[in-house]
Amino acid sequence: MNPLQIDTTEPVLVTGATGYVAGWIIKDLLEAGVTVHATVRDASKTARLAHLTAIADRSPGQIRFFDADLLTEGAFDEAMQGTRVVYHTASPFVRDVSDPQKDLVDPAVQGTTNVLRTASRTPTVRRVVLTSSVAAMYGDAVELSATGGRLDESCWNATSSLTHEPYPYSKTLAERAAWDQAKEQDQWELVTVNPGLVVGPALNDQPTSESFAIVQQLAGGRGRFGVPNLAMTVVDVRDVAAAHIAAAYTPEAHGRYLVAAEATDLVDLGRRLQPHATRPRLVATRALPKQLAVLVAPLAGMDRAYVRDNVGHPLQLATTRTRDELGVTYRSIDASLGEMLAQLQGARS
Ligand code: NAP
Repeated sequence: MNPLQIDTTEPVLVTGATGYVAGWIIKDLLEAGVTVHATVRDASKTARLAHLTAIADRSPGQIRFFDADLLTEGAFDEAMQGTRVVYHTASPFVRDVSDPQKDLVDPAVQGTTNVLRTASRTPTVRRVVLTSSVAAMYGDAVELSATGGRLDESCWNATSSLTHEPYPYSKTLAERAAWDQAKEQDQWELVTVNPGLVVGPALNDQPTSESFAIVQQLAGGRGRFGVPNLAMTVVDVRDVAAAHIAAAYTPEAHGRYLVAAEATDLVDLGRRLQPHATRPRLVATRALPKQLAVLVAPLAGMDRAYVRDNVGHPLQLATTRTRDELGVTYRSIDASLGEMLAQLQGARS
């Protein structure tokens, strides 16, 4: 593969700039000398942007902030003017919601169609890199059991719904809507980046991403007597950012890219977090027997069907496209988990 040629002559748009993943994408872009148009919900809250401004101050690239809410039609028009690449990362990543349609599906789907409609009326835009998710590839690991748990870019989540795992449902609908819109025009190309659970440090002091809530739950004591041993895929946030940059600047990049370093499970993650924990005895390192895990699932805020369909169904990753076509190499997640936990523990002390 040729070394990546990052075009610094034209600005790019990054939506959801306050986010955990977006922060690292913006850092890479600024350090490469790119001008970044960064959309946030409220640019007057400058404290939430301070980490980005600080990176811009010491980088050759520049950053400009714009207000844009996913649900406001036309909100991205001004920020998108003159951009060649659009990175659409903004989407709610929260699991605990009272109204899944309003809190997850509407911003994910309407937000994506809103951003892509703007791309179609902004003649400079040539490529859109959408932050999708492994959650759009499968909802329950049992779905993949017919192929020995093999997860690759041909997989689509077929089991999530508004009432069963609404976050994966929101990501699936949003990615499908994006591919539908991409087919209706030929001005811009769509490339999706589909990461597993993202881990590693955040650039901002108070990350809101559900990634931090998951690690906090594993290390904070809630699972110390045992957890449902859910299958999952994991990747460092800096590798996710690198995949986004390569997806934008590799001319041949196309389609979906599964971005995950490892297929693992919750207990394995707990065991690898433990050496980094200030209170190691609180860390979840034991698996509950499956029948018990299903029974007590609601006590852990999970639904029983989710536990039944995700425990005991290991995954096998097939990520050759991402390695070969985007040149992504994965760092070990042990260090990433340590850095993330250090940040969480530092915030508490
Ligand atoms: P995050 O830190 O919570 O970032 C989410 C971003 O979306 C925030 O900037 C948030 O803005 C923005 N957003 C939410 N609702 C919005 C709305 N109505 N209008 C405008 N912006 C809105 O979470 P993250 O982990 O970085 O997630 C970023 C993307 O990666 C999401 O698309 C997520 O689905 C995807 N992803 C994440 C993971 C993971 O494990 N973290 C894995 C796979 C895919 P505010 O700051 O204003 O709330």
